[in-house]
Amino acid sequence: MQTPSSARPILGPGFEIRHYCGLFGIAGHPKAADLTHLGLYAQQHRGQEAAGICTADGGRILRQAGLGLVTDAIPEGSLDGMQDPLAVGHVRYSTTGGGSPTNIQPLLVQAAYGQRALCHNGNLVNASSLRSAYERRGHIFNSTSDSEVILHMLADERYRREADPLAAVLRDLRGSYCLLLMQPDRIEAVRDPSGNRPLCLGRVDGAWVVASETCALDMVEAEYVRDVAPGEIVTLTEEGLGSRRFVDEAACRRAHCIFELIYFSDPSSRVFEESVHLARKAMGAALAREDGVAADLVIPVPNCARCAAIGYHEQSGIPLGRGFTTNHYVGRSFIQPTQAIRDLTVRLKLNPIRDAVAGKRLIVVEDSVVRGTTTRAKMQSLRRAGATEIHLRVASPPIRYPCHYGIDFPQRSELIANQRSVDEIRDYLGIDSLVYLSHEQMLNSVQNANADYCTACFSGAYPMPIDENFRKDLFEASKQVSR
Ligand code: SF4
Repeated sequence: MQTPSSARPILGPGFEIRHYCGLFGIAGHPKAADLTHLGLYAQQHRGQEAAGICTADGGRILRQAGLGLVTDAIPEGSLDGMQDPLAVGHVRYSTTGGGSPTNIQPLLVQAAYGQRALCHNGNLVNASSLRSAYERRGHIFNSTSDSEVILHMLADERYRREADPLAAVLRDLRGSYCLLLMQPDRIEAVRDPSGNRPLCLGRVDGAWVVASETCALDMVEAEYVRDVAPGEIVTLTEEGLGSRRFVDEAACRRAHCIFELIYFSDPSSRVFEESVHLARKAMGAALAREDGVAADLVIPVPNCARCAAIGYHEQSGIPLGRGFTTNHYVGRSFIQPTQAIRDLTVRLKLNPIRDAVAGKRLIVVEDSVVRGTTTRAKMQSLRRAGATEIHLRVASPPIRYPCHYGIDFPQRSELIANQRSVDEIRDYLGIDSLVYLSHEQMLNSVQNANADYCTACFSGAYPMPIDENFRKDLFEASKQVSR
């Protein structure tokens, strides 16, 4: 069983990038709450700020949620009174709306038409304008999350008069969203028309399961059936599964987030009908294919680059080894927004194994470089441990543009590749050579290439309209101003 300590580190090599939110839902199972708990554990790498579960018995919805890891937010025994046949759950990293308790999902509301619970993975680029319109009409928002506006829209008479109010609401949303919307007798699972984030369906003991990643299906021993299609609403009830579309298939322009394959998803998962492990291995092999540098050892920067390092090793024939130990026990209290603390965190999280790297010419494989500051700290630590040459190979292209679809990259000005050439980055990192995976090699490493993938953080070609003024703390800021 995968536990938080063996999942993606809370801090560590990738802590510059926050990705957010994992979803899990199940209908028609006597252990729905417990399986949802497990499904969230399996997806802890998708969010560590908060977690929550709602269950339903056909008549009412109950909720258990809190800040922190799944173990803290949903402690043992807290689900004892929630053994209902329907459950949805959410793990959160906040990109929009901060980490306050009011933003923990599932959001649960008591509306005139009944209870509704909502889980969201993604980012609504038009949340600001939608919310402003409701605030002008006197609506009170309880959270600073972009997701809450969906609940206000669902309560809006304008949409409720439609034959399919949910479909009408979804057609007015812009951006990236996978949703689980719970009513007392059903779960509706939604994927936006671009299919930007993954969402899959499985079956266990005759019950239907929905999850962000297939590793959650594996955790509850569910069999993968298919992905929820872009533009589709799937209804899960105790009786079975229903499906309808809110956007015609022909009108759906797919833009799967390629960063799910590079970094976010668990290597044991298949996302976008693609093996994460094999895609990463292919990216590492592509890096090695045209690389003539002589070296003694290939080492991954743990943990995300392990699969790419295997690919590099297999392609190049250079021995694969371990260059770092990883400390899984560094707590969240160490997250601080200063460079000094970030450097300290890198040292706490990753310690070079002196006897493995001293006197060696190293190929160091990294999944991505964002600000460059933590990468530099890692390279310096290898140098101090006695590495004679350091050749950094990055299994993705330079990140030059921010993500507007839910990934918390720093501002454009903080992205090192936006500010410096590859040679300048090499000098800044203090290494002997630096090679990034090309855009073409990246797409060649996945099966559903070209138009199926969003690559905007590398190319600047945003597949969906963006709000240039968007900031992750937008609603936090507006709340502060109004106080
Ligand atoms: S911009 Fe990058 S991180 Fe954001 S959705 Fe596109 S590929 Fe993913």
